[in-house]
Amino acid sequence: MATNVTEQQARQVAEAAREREWKLPSFGKELFLGNFRLDLIHPQPELDPAAVEKGERFLAALRDFLVSEVDPLRIEREARIPDEVVDGLKELGALGMKVPAEYGGLGLSQVYYNRALVLADTWHSAISTLLSAHQSIGVSQPLLAFGTEEQKRRWLPLVARDHISAFLLTEPDVGSDPARLAATAVPTDDGYVLNGRKLWATNGAIADVVVVMAQVPKSEGHRGGISAFVLPYDTEGVTVENRNAFMGLRGIENSATLLRDVFVPAENLIGREGDGLKIALTTLNTGRLALPAICVGVAKWATKICREWGNERVQWGQPVGRHDAVAQKIGFIAATAFGLEAMLDVSSRLADAKRSDIRIEAAIAKLYASEMGWKVVDELMQVRGGRGYETAESLKARGEKPVPVEQAMRDMRINRIFEGSTEIMHLLIAREAVDQHLEVAGDILEGDVELARKARAALKAGRFYAKWLPQLAVGEGQRPGSFDDFGELATHLRFVERNSRKLARSTFYAMGRWQAKLEKRQAFLGRIVDIGAELYAIAAACVYARTLGTAEARELADVFARQARARVKTLFYNVFANEDDANHGLARRVLDGAHTWLEEGIADPSGEGPMMASAEPAEAARSYMDVPDAR
Ligand SMILES: Cc1cc2nc3c(=O)[nH]c(=O)nc-3n(C[C@H](O)[C@H](O)[C@H](O)COP(=O)(O)OP(=O)(O)OC[C@H]3O[C@@H](n4cnc5c(N)ncnc54)[C@H](O)[C@@H]3O)c2cc1C
Repeated sequence: MATNVTEQQARQVAEAAREREWKLPSFGKELFLGNFRLDLIHPQPELDPAAVEKGERFLAALRDFLVSEVDPLRIEREARIPDEVVDGLKELGALGMKVPAEYGGLGLSQVYYNRALVLADTWHSAISTLLSAHQSIGVSQPLLAFGTEEQKRRWLPLVARDHISAFLLTEPDVGSDPARLAATAVPTDDGYVLNGRKLWATNGAIADVVVVMAQVPKSEGHRGGISAFVLPYDTEGVTVENRNAFMGLRGIENSATLLRDVFVPAENLIGREGDGLKIALTTLNTGRLALPAICVGVAKWATKICREWGNERVQWGQPVGRHDAVAQKIGFIAATAFGLEAMLDVSSRLADAKRSDIRIEAAIAKLYASEMGWKVVDELMQVRGGRGYETAESLKARGEKPVPVEQAMRDMRINRIFEGSTEIMHLLIAREAVDQHLEVAGDILEGDVELARKARAALKAGRFYAKWLPQLAVGEGQRPGSFDDFGELATHLRFVERNSRKLARSTFYAMGRWQAKLEKRQAFLGRIVDIGAELYAIAAACVYARTLGTAEARELADVFARQARARVKTLFYNVFANEDDANHGLARRVLDGAHTWLEEGIADPSGEGPMMASAEPAEAARSYMDVPDAR
């Protein structure tokens, strides 16, 4: 398949994969339109008592198992999860947490699935990575959403019990841009023949069954396009070429996988030909909540370590936690842990209640938690000083408590990159945020649209904006006493309401100013999305504190909201006063080689070789068996 893809084609592919309709109300969509619909997230849906009972029972069993059977230092040392741990997880039913009971799984709610990930991740990230890749993007979710009853009956009991699954989309030449997908699935009489090379598949080094994305060429009777298949991993022609190793997530079973003339029967196609990306994106609508859960776990753990260390370590006459500079960091870490948990809880309960479209909220949760989680571990390392930088193994060898802060930092970093990098999440959320505008004014904004269509669009847009714009001028946030039932937190909700309208006004102004070129203003769009994320976080914190109903929760929500409001103010300031053009210009000159003089005096240890491996199987590709610690 050709991988010469223009920017426009790449956009078309992404656009085609989007869910176009909004069948259910969306808090996030309304927020970006300047309409603060608190009623969509408050009061929070009640947790079903049966689901709570089942969830708590599972959490207790998982905790017991982790604490008594799993040595996190060993996983870190050996860079693999011992077989008996994987077997133990299977026995607990942990592979089937999200699979409904009728298909042999535990049928946990989203809330409890996330809590299980929080717990597992804090013990060792390799475990939560295995579980979340298996369940959030592996075989079960796409099948639950798009599979036939027959497919569900065949595969779900297996993946719920003991078949480890993985998701194979990425290729050497396909990262953020799926339009470049080169793996092919050529139709035969009774199925497809797959060829290609897949990169970085989590669980791909030990998987039993995987979801693989490949291009079906268009031909008679085949509409073609990127399609998703369930592939038993022991099928002839599947080779794990490498077990990849990373900065963090030691113990991850991540593969480079070669597919050479691999036959997959027609009944293993998920959905229809050409639906592959839509399936992947829809799966991620709630699947994306796994990563924020992992970040929440780390932030809560960071709070605990700060408390213990901040009290015990005395320097310059008092515990380090009481020196103002360190106290500021602890305040940030604790408040952020609460804010992230609030956002996760609000989003997850919405997912369980199935009464809202949560694609924006889940995407924001992924973006925001991974960015804030990174800041949290960075500050935690600073609070721990030199011990933060020392490995847990080394601390233990010296007779100190093996607190794995440097590991937490290494493990946390990837969250800003995978399952949608921050840059891609900014674009994805921005696209959803301006969807209503594109709906009514898309043709006006597009540069290359004929005049008659523009005129028709102007008429339609005129009707929408005549009603919408005046609504942005006034609102509840200006009325003293509004949201009063939230007590001292009401002021933060008023802030959210006012700033949601300001956000919508800024977006509208920018659309007028840049029109079709708006999509190129990525730094601008990033700030708009980040403001929306902070506003959602503030609202979630207030709502969650109200649900918990304690003075402690209110204090955390209040301080978190204050910190988030300060960030919102800076972001707004930078929306139209920034150095974006200067930065972009400099980047272009750097790329064009104008500043190679600056690189003098260094020695680059990167060595030789292509920056990207060929999508074709390389002659020198090592076989799976040659890799010492691959299984
Ligand atoms: C540990 C690990 C586990 C993974 N697990 C899986 C898995 O299980 N299955 C799977 O299929 N894949 C997996 N991946 C792949 C992962 O999803 C990709 O790394 C991710 O999609 C980003 O792609 P890339 O690394 O090729 O970055 P690139 O797409 O090459 O991007 C490089 C940089 O450019 C930015 N960028 C790219 N396009 C744009 C744009 N249009 N506008 C602005 N900025 C842009 C990116 O944000 C990034 O900063 C994994 C990766 C890792 C490292």
